[in-house]
Amino acid sequence: MSDVLTFVSGHKSPDTDSICSAIAYANLLTQMGTPATPVCAGPANKETTYVLNHFGFAHPQIVTNWEEFAPNGGDLYLTDHNESKQIIDGYKSMNIRGVIDHHRIGDFETDGPVFIRMEPVGCTNTILTKLYIENNQDIPKHIAGVMLSAIISDTVLFRSPTCTETDKEMAHKLAAIAGVDIESYGLDMLKAGADISDLSNDDIVRTDMKEFSEGGQTISIGQISVMDTTDILAKQGELVDALESLRSANNYSASYIMITNILDESTTLLYSGDVDAVVTKAFGKEIKDNSVFLPNTMSRKKQIVPPILGAMK
Ligand code: MG
Ligand code: MG
Ligand code: MG
Repeated sequence: MSDVLTFVSGHKSPDTDSICSAIAYANLLTQMGTPATPVCAGPANKETTYVLNHFGFAHPQIVTNWEEFAPNGGDLYLTDHNESKQIIDGYKSMNIRGVIDHHRIGDFETDGPVFIRMEPVGCTNTILTKLYIENNQDIPKHIAGVMLSAIISDTVLFRSPTCTETDKEMAHKLAAIAGVDIESYGLDMLKAGADISDLSNDDIVRTDMKEFSEGGQTISIGQISVMDTTDILAKQGELVDALESLRSANNYSASYIMITNILDESTTLLYSGDVDAVVTKAFGKEIKDNSVFLPNTMSRKKQIVPPILGAMK
């Protein structure tokens, strides 16, 4: 046996899919003979905390810099991301062995050969469910629970346009194993995540934030999901100010926050930066006070990132 340590990690600003895919894939690797440890890039959000508590998992260890955490290096598998800006810092010291993901391919580059499994489905855990099945591996009940939770989260209970038939099929398999009623459990889980009562404006604009680059410019796009937008939109001006602080502190050309209403499946997009023209071009809608209302919009990956990056070109 080699003494190389093997880790699995999701992206920075971890969401439920990121943390649960690291747990699920580390378990699959371990079952198949490569002991692996799930880690995460930061603290679990409220939704993920609800999921971990519900199925009896401890919070995975947080790693913010690989060089500090594993000075002797190790093997690293990435789940739910591949763009360098979303990988935990210092990863060049690690040997990236594999990627399981459902996002666009960004600037991904490795030193050695790598196992890659990417599919255009709604959730990394949908792909992982298929990997368990293909490898004839049983999914333990509590692992099935967190995997199902991730599919519910990423597809917003199958409402998101990113949701595919495969996501639904795998979710139902997982629900049967976990002994969970998808609708009632799913609504409780989403409700736990949508509680923003104790978040500051700075917290809100940094929720689920990701960086993207186009033509030498870097932008940030966060997303916060709520069941009622009344309170949060009442302080729209303050949120734009918080976005501007975030933008200028990081030298982004623009910072965006999607305020997504899970129940009516719409998004209000707030932004800072000199990008009125970009936003107008991207969505073809009237903008007002650094915001644009987008009906039938829930997916950053499918409905926000491509038009914005396209408009920046
Ligand atoms: Mg994710
Ligand atoms: Mg995901
Ligand atoms: Mg997400």
